[in-house]
Amino acid sequence: MAVSDQLQEALDILRDSGVRITPQRHAVLEFLIQSEKHPTADDIYKALESKFPNMSVATVYNNLRVFREIGLVRELTYGDSSSRFDCNTSDHYHIICDQCGKIVDFHYPRLDEVESIAEQITGFDISRHRMEVYGVCEDCKDLAKASH
Ligand SMILES: [Zn+2]
Ligand SMILES: [Zn+2]
Repeated sequence: MAVSDQLQEALDILRDSGVRITPQRHAVLEFLIQSEKHPTADDIYKALESKFPNMSVATVYNNLRVFREIGLVRELTYGDSSSRFDCNTSDHYHIICDQCGKIVDFHYPRLDEVESIAEQITGFDISRHRMEVYGVCEDCKDLAKASH
């Protein structure tokens, strides 16, 4: 889907949920949709602070929380202080670069059945699953090559 379509759809969802669309909210949402990098609240703040001098990291975070509550974004926590935000809310997995921390989406539908298998084996009611793959991204591999 084109970025502009995705943005329009997200704005419609906000409007339907009765969330006021302020210029800041619009900008945060637009940045999230354009960025495929799963930014932190801090990344978003840094990218937009020149445009919105009165905005704080806390404002960005509050906006992200509103988006999360209506299901527009997912918050990814990695055990450190900074959550990453993902506006791709379809089922997908993440591969994470050990060197630069970049997170890239990939799909692997064959894993869908892991939930029903887990349910059968353990008797749990399954709510979700999570898997991450780690490695070195192409950019970092190129950088390593260039420095030799
Ligand atoms: Zn990398
Ligand atoms: Zn993602």
